[in-house]
Amino acid sequence: QIQHLTSFMKQQPSRVNVPLSGGREYDIRIGRGLIDAVGAEARDLGARAAGIVTDETVAGLYGERVRASLEAAGLRCGIIAVPPGEASKSYSQFARVCDGLLSQKIERGDLVVALGGGVVGDLAGFSAASLRRGVRFVQVPTTLLAQVDSSVGGKTGINSPHGKNLIGAFHQPRLVLADTATLDTLSEREMRAGYAEVAKYGLIGDADFFEWCEANWAGIFSGGPERDEAVAACCRAKAGVVTRDEREDGERALLNLGHTFGHALERLTGYDAARLVHGEGVAIGLALAFRFSARLGLCSGQDAGRVANHLALAGLPTRLQQVPGGAGDPDALLDAMAQDKKVRDGQLTFILAHGIGQSFIAPGIAAAEVRAFLEEELR
Ligand code: NAD
Ligand code: MG
Repeated sequence: QIQHLTSFMKQQPSRVNVPLSGGREYDIRIGRGLIDAVGAEARDLGARAAGIVTDETVAGLYGERVRASLEAAGLRCGIIAVPPGEASKSYSQFARVCDGLLSQKIERGDLVVALGGGVVGDLAGFSAASLRRGVRFVQVPTTLLAQVDSSVGGKTGINSPHGKNLIGAFHQPRLVLADTATLDTLSEREMRAGYAEVAKYGLIGDADFFEWCEANWAGIFSGGPERDEAVAACCRAKAGVVTRDEREDGERALLNLGHTFGHALERLTGYDAARLVHGEGVAIGLALAFRFSARLGLCSGQDAGRVANHLALAGLPTRLQQVPGGAGDPDALLDAMAQDKKVRDGQLTFILAHGIGQSFIAPGIAAAEVRAFLEEELR
């Protein structure tokens, strides 16, 4: 018994490899307590200094632990904290982070450590990509969304007044350390939002994983071993897609399942997190993508119902009527979907599904068809 227990405890936390070419291969390590391994990992990477980029909330919770880990490993380090929230993916915070890293004398052989959610990951990653034409960076994601999605795949960037994520670079991390215990302090709402992306992986291409989620979702929320398993499964799925299609010339677009509708809802609610966070938009978007697929005769109504039921059980919205303050009318939604008023008569590309785990890229969907569907949904 005891031997079994120790061998279990000595087991490596799970590890997912992202086998990118050109020396850009990296590992994703997943497990509770990994935040304290940042220092040893950074030392193994040969860095002498590390610039921690985080937000003020995460700095208060985990900043000193990460600093202590780096200093114990003999690295010089400093912390740059931006205000929490999407507004920090801005030119002004980008400048502040880059200048902060320069004043810390972070050089090409050193590391930028992105400690936080997707906002910090995108901002720190883009800063690392730009600083001295590219310094190495490590992702230490602390939201469920960041652990299963944004920390993997190398997309980094900030927002412009012209739109979200319009200024950016592909810059792969050197390592991802997903400490699943950090999610214990995440709000229920952020947890649910990240869970929409977890369920998404099952819906895209893995019916068995979706079924597993239906049975095990509560353990993901409560921090049982299911949480680590789910994060690992999602990272494995994303790593596969990214390795096959790093720059989104094809398959990577499937990761946008539910996002065409979701992004439109975020735009219509003014990116106001008090009304709608990204994952909530995605949850409604996933339910809509399946109901739309059913309406087009591509998938069964039963599957569409199963998707919405599961998301609702996990506490996520699944209908346009649930958008606080309203989702607008079909034309406003269509315009927001295409960011172009002329698309009303045109065609759109959607990610649709033949069933759970059977998504596909569907170009040439007539706007009139989408409009009729939205009208029915809003009735
Ligand atoms: P976020 O980074 O704003 O984090 C959400 C909130 O949780 C913040 O207030 C943060 O301070 C707080 N927080 C973070 N970790 C915490 C913890 N452990 N305990 C308590 N509070 C914590 O939001 P997010 O949902 O993680 O990321 C959204 C961003 O990710 C968007 O900007 C989106 O564009 C981006 N994104 C990028 C990619 C990509 O491939 N690069 C993919 C998906 C999303
Ligand atoms: Mg998303």
